[in-house]
Amino acid sequence: MTATAEVVIVGAGIMGCAIAYSLAERGLSDIVVIERDAIARGATADAAGGIRQQFSTETNIHLATASVRVWETFAERFDAEIGLRQQGYLFLLDDEAEADTFRSNVALQRTLGVPSRWVEPDEIATLNPYVRLDDVVGGTYCPEDGWVDTYQATMGYARAARRLGVTFREDTAVTGITVEDGRVTGVGTPGGPISSPLVILCAGPYTRQVAAMAGIDLPISPSRRMSFVTEPFDGLPPTLPMTIEFSTGLYFHPESGG
Ligand SMILES: Cc1cc2nc3c(=O)[nH]c(=O)nc-3n(C[C@H](O)[C@H](O)[C@H](O)COP(=O)(O)OP(=O)(O)OC[C@H]3O[C@@H](n4cnc5c(N)ncnc54)[C@H](O)[C@@H]3O)c2cc1C
Repeated sequence: MTATAEVVIVGAGIMGCAIAYSLAERGLSDIVVIERDAIARGATADAAGGIRQQFSTETNIHLATASVRVWETFAERFDAEIGLRQQGYLFLLDDEAEADTFRSNVALQRTLGVPSRWVEPDEIATLNPYVRLDDVVGGTYCPEDGWVDTYQATMGYARAARRLGVTFREDTAVTGITVEDGRVTGVGTPGGPISSPLVILCAGPYTRQVAAMAGIDLPISPSRRMSFVTEPFDGLPPTLPMTIEFSTGLYFHPESGG
């Protein structure tokens, strides 16, 4: 007999788990999340967990502001500790043209209620005394920005989803998507097909490959990132903000003593 589900979600990273929870909260009762590895082991496991409201478009700022409110209430709402640290995001700028753009961004952010501000090099030296400032013309800072533990956040969503009846199938790869008369009708797995009128792809960097199973070419291309984790050491105070050198994309933040 073919298994059935109201919704199949492919991938149990932060996206799949958050969507599963949100659909269950809205009353969908038969949701199956299929994960070829384990919950929170994809890109989500490697993320720095940075959350910021310093964006350049109104839409992104609204989305980011709403998400910060979610993280601020997450521990209480889901009884899950996610290591939220609102120690700010500090952008360092070494180019006058970029500085002008960031000043305009801050003006827009502030009209939408984001407490970001322009900071001169002497204030940057106070916010983070460990950066070299000789080529820095200024920066922007928002004290409400920060970071969370992405593993704990994802597990928090997954546990909340399970409590609402969502089924998680780990160690199970989606190997095919069935399409009939132009509509998706289910997925294939090594354990057999699951029939469903709604399949949501949350496969992160693999979404293009999974979409191709339904004959759809999504323009999603993964790009490699590099991260370095130190042992705990005493050199940097744990209160530093997430600090980003905008021109190179290099950023760092303190976590777990390192
Ligand atoms: C080094 C690094 C730093 C980052 N820092 C930040 C940051 O500071 N702030 C921020 O917001 N974002 C950051 N990101 C981005 C963030 O990690 C991703 O946007 C987010 O985790 C994506 O979540 P996801 O659920 O879409 O994907 P993933 O977490 O990758 O989950 C996708 C899941 O799909 C599963 N899957 C794939 N194919 C199949 C299949 N055929 N069948 C079943 N399951 C399948 C995978 O196993 C995986 O578990 C960072 C990313 C990296 C790599």
